Amino acid sequence: MSNNLYAKLPSTERLIQVMQQHFYDTPNLLLKTKINEYLENLRQQIKKGNISKIDLEEKTLIKNLLSFLNFELKPHFREVINGTGVVVHTNLGRSLLSKKALDAVCQACSHYSNLEFNLNTGKRGSRYSHVEEILCLLTGAESALVVNNNAAAVLIMLDTLAKEKEVIVSRGELVEIGGSFRIPDVMQKSGAILKEVGTTNRTHLKDYEQAINENTACIMKVHTSNYRIIGFHKSVSLEELVKLGAKYHLPIIEDMGSGNFISFSKYGFSQLNEPTVQESIKVGLDLVSFSGDKLLGGPQAGIIVGKKDIVDKIKQNPLNRALRIDKMTLSALEATLRLYLDEATALKEIPTLNLIFTPLTTLKNRARRLKNLLSKIHELEVKTVKSTSRVGGGSLPEKDISTYVVQIKMKNLSAEKLRQKLLKTTPPLIGRIEDDIFCLDVRTILSKEINLIYQIFSQQIGSGNA
Ligand SMILES: *Cc1c(COP(=O)(O)O)cnc(C)c1O
Repeated sequence: MSNNLYAKLPSTERLIQVMQQHFYDTPNLLLKTKINEYLENLRQQIKKGNISKIDLEEKTLIKNLLSFLNFELKPHFREVINGTGVVVHTNLGRSLLSKKALDAVCQACSHYSNLEFNLNTGKRGSRYSHVEEILCLLTGAESALVVNNNAAAVLIMLDTLAKEKEVIVSRGELVEIGGSFRIPDVMQKSGAILKEVGTTNRTHLKDYEQAINENTACIMKVHTSNYRIIGFHKSVSLEELVKLGAKYHLPIIEDMGSGNFISFSKYGFSQLNEPTVQESIKVGLDLVSFSGDKLLGGPQAGIIVGKKDIVDKIKQNPLNRALRIDKMTLSALEATLRLYLDEATALKEIPTLNLIFTPLTTLKNRARRLKNLLSKIHELEVKTVKSTSRVGGGSLPEKDISTYVVQIKMKNLSAEKLRQKLLKTTPPLIGRIEDDIFCLDVRTILSKEINLIYQIFSQQIGSGNA
């Protein structure tokens, strides 16, 4: 019986011939590889007895192969629609760049530039000079440096200051960020020796003080960005640590995680009170590091600001060369930072901030628009519901912001099956499941994507589309 089925499979050559008409600009090698992959998959299905004669009728097979190739032949790295409501979603690319940053990247890459060329002297310059001044202006720091990401920033700070020496960190701050970035592991890689003090929920100034010895290199504060201890807890303030550092001549450094320049409480978001880089510098920290692509809303980067003598040492660390940023990052970062020179402009033009601060009424209208469109599709049952979004990316832990979601139920399809189907559409549509219902949170859905979502459902999902 199953032998019969194998015999029904068309030859690769035959399928290539047919598919060349649909994918005429696809290189043959790629087409052939993908068709073989498809045929191999069918053979496996036959072996398992998962397939019937009807599935192998030429018409059905060709139709299924077409939709397989339509998905598979696209570039592997592609756009998706973020319906999760998580604004800084590390798996979905974190921050969207502002228009200004995008233009800057295009400019930087389509022309030669003064990347490492000093236009005053006509001689070699430094790539960091382009953003150092503006970073100092925005944060009040004496000096600044940018590396590949914040993990790299932490690594190079510790490698410079604390190789084979002790770094004192509170137990409550030894966090894992996700994607297996753990503060203790990075520390070990840098050659620093971790000296844990206090307990998980409470650390006192005397705990730090008692841990200081002749081999202590610095004290490090880590912003516990993705969790929060509630209840009986105590941590030592930056002010107290700075005083302690002065007493023992020890640098106090901080991994702030998500960098932030804006005091959210000013804008009626007091529940989102995330510390700012300026505050840490003002208190007198020696070094502060943070990400470029979390709350800051720029490209992936690790920014280090602080006292000039220490930043100068980091600049001379050979690791700096290995962790350096490229011209695309640099151009996007400078453009993003320039927007922060005027806070109102930053809030308007930086997508990450814009998405976080979208008024609830706007979200409600957007959800309604989407619901009304999707309701035209008879197989769907659609509703708008008030819910909550997360900022994400290890920012603002446990702080939910109100939003509207569109709940979508499809006849004869579980929420999980619908979720899986939507992963394969063009573009893929990523949502979340709440109470066993598939939901799209409109906070992270751009206004221009509403029609596209309707098209995805009407043209790619539904009875006619397996
Ligand atoms: C996110 C985060 C990091 C890692 O930053 P990347 O820019 O992703 O490398 C390090 N420390 C903290 C506290 C973070 O929140």
